[in-house]
Amino acid sequence: MTKKQTIFSAIQPSGELHIGNYLGALKNFVELQDEYDCFFFIADYHSITGDYNPKEKSKQIFDLALDFLAIGLDPQKCTIAVQSQIPEHTELAWIFNTITPISELQRMTQFKDKSQNQGKNINVGLFDYPVLQAADILMYKAYGVPIGQDQIQHIELTRKIARFFNNKFGETFPEPKDIITETPKIMSLTDPTKKMSKSHGPKSYIGINDEPEVIRKKMKKAISTTEYNKDIYNFYASLLEEFGTEKNKDYFANQFKNQNLKFSELKDALAEDIANYFKDFRTKRKELAKNPKEVKKILDKGAEKARVIARETMKEVKEKVGLIL
Ligand code: AMP
Repeated sequence: MTKKQTIFSAIQPSGELHIGNYLGALKNFVELQDEYDCFFFIADYHSITGDYNPKEKSKQIFDLALDFLAIGLDPQKCTIAVQSQIPEHTELAWIFNTITPISELQRMTQFKDKSQNQGKNINVGLFDYPVLQAADILMYKAYGVPIGQDQIQHIELTRKIARFFNNKFGETFPEPKDIITETPKIMSLTDPTKKMSKSHGPKSYIGINDEPEVIRKKMKKAISTTEYNKDIYNFYASLLEEFGTEKNKDYFANQFKNQNLKFSELKDALAEDIANYFKDFRTKRKELAKNPKEVKKILDKGAEKARVIARETMKEVKEKVGLIL
């Protein structure tokens, strides 16, 4: 039997997931687990580079594990683990720090954006974020990384870091490719020129765990227009394409063709379709939440499995770098 190729991706535990996270990344995770040897991580070390409340962090980690499991990640098929439980990740990041030029990190648009959002907390971890991400991915010698569009630049840097390392110490890491969904960038409900993000406030996104009435309210307040506006039309078209029933897709395509699109009708229909789309997810999540021990056991097992590979990689890396006596 030929060995399956490896996929690695991670999401930060920093509060609820929104439909952008789902369409950009999570949806692909679920599909890829059938074909590849997948590692899906809860990037808690990354998440503490942002502003956060330490009292909430462990719940956020647990909640993200619930999201992973309820959306359909199957621990029999893939490895689900918490980043900080495998200390080799930060060890490898340190080694990568010593071969990554500062100028590469200064170019990162995410760092520039986040520095603006958290002006009083521009910490070294935030700057070094993509190096830890490279360590996460290269630790498992991943072939591919399913991510949203905002992460493409980081995967490009991961490939460079692999190259820097291989050139200096000998062939060790394959260069991973990014795996993008058909909708790698979902826009904000309130401003269709900005990507959907929690940092723009709760009115700007729909959480995958939002109850139907919350979705309805948020949709009602979402942007609309009386004149044709490409960004707004594209935004609703992408949601309809992903979540709409066939009947609604046809119905609104006709309205659009006849130039009598009624936004209030479209928004109500979309709210209902999105709520229905995540109905099973919400039910499963509530069930899983009743059994925290089981969830923790899955994470412990995942970390155990990942640790075996991480130790192997670090042994190889330390030998090559000259850190073994
Ligand atoms: P993060 O919360 O930064 O850990 O993001 C988790 C995943 O969701 C990453 O792969 C992001 O690229 C993806 N993502 C975040 N926001 C969006 C968005 N608005 N549209 C599509 N993908 C997104």
